[in-house]
Amino acid sequence: AKASLTVDVCFYEADMDQAVRARRRVTQALREALDNERFELHYQVQASVETGKATGYEVLLRWRGDDGDYISPSDFIPVAEETGLILPIGEWVLRQACRQAAAWEEPHRIAVNLSPVQLSHVDLPRLVHQVLLETGLAPSRLELEITETAMISDMARTTHVLRQLKALGVTIAMDDFGTGYSSLSTLRAFPFDKIKLDRSFMTELDGAAPQSRAIIRAVLTIGESLSIPVLAEGVETPEQLAFLRAQGCDEVQGYLLGRPQPEADALSQGVAATPQ
Ligand code: C2E
Ligand code: CA
Ligand code: CA
Ligand code: CA
Repeated sequence: AKASLTVDVCFYEADMDQAVRARRRVTQALREALDNERFELHYQVQASVETGKATGYEVLLRWRGDDGDYISPSDFIPVAEETGLILPIGEWVLRQACRQAAAWEEPHRIAVNLSPVQLSHVDLPRLVHQVLLETGLAPSRLELEITETAMISDMARTTHVLRQLKALGVTIAMDDFGTGYSSLSTLRAFPFDKIKLDRSFMTELDGAAPQSRAIIRAVLTIGESLSIPVLAEGVETPEQLAFLRAQGCDEVQGYLLGRPQPEADALSQGVAATPQ
């Protein structure tokens, strides 16, 4: 048993070594990507269910690898968060998005994702204020999306930061609602301007299980009672859209309306499948 344990430990250490090396490679590549402007922003339209018109665009980070293919943010954001590189990357996203949107003909709102690390490690209100001044973007055109993870680590401090942000005139959306452990207490802790219902509920909507429908209805009721508009994410089919409309959902976002695309394409396409 002892020998085999030693062997296991050796394997484990070899794995660790590999994991550490892999992380180091990604970190190095991220740093280079930032220095060499290999990051791009894509925009995905958000639409009003009632009018079918664009209400805003979510800003989604893209990393163009050496082969020209895009590397998904889900693959590199966690590493960027662990290494702290998310701070300069997040600052770049904010500045670039505000700069681009300030030059648009139509004053659409942009929604920028914030990492919990950004919320807890920099003087975020000062940075946002500075970027708004620098780019001339009206504060009301900037929405910041935060997930519940950012709230639970240090609720008191986070709500303080969120209040400072709101005082600048920007709005705050609760992202991925319904996936965490304390979505409801999070809503109680801070007056969010929007609830973004996680797209996992949309996927399940097509299945036979009635649970997702019931949960979507319940979230819409909560939004209604608290006067917080609800946006449903990941809307891919006309059936999903019809259900959301019937239940009084306020806004929608998803492949049905438009994929995340480079700025010019997203703006010229507008809302692909006008909800009606
Ligand atoms: P998220 O904030 O929940 O963003 C929505 C994700 O759903 C995006 O994935 C989007 O492309 C995808 N999506 C939109 N509509 C549909 C649909 O109809 N069906 C399906 N299956 N997917 C849809 P993406 O762009 O890969 O981003 C993944 C996550 O990476 C984001 O999830 C967000 O948490 C993070 N992320 C992206 N950009 C940034 C950023 O600038 N900063 C930070 N901190 N995180 C970011
Ligand atoms: Ca988001
Ligand atoms: Ca989301
Ligand atoms: Ca409603």
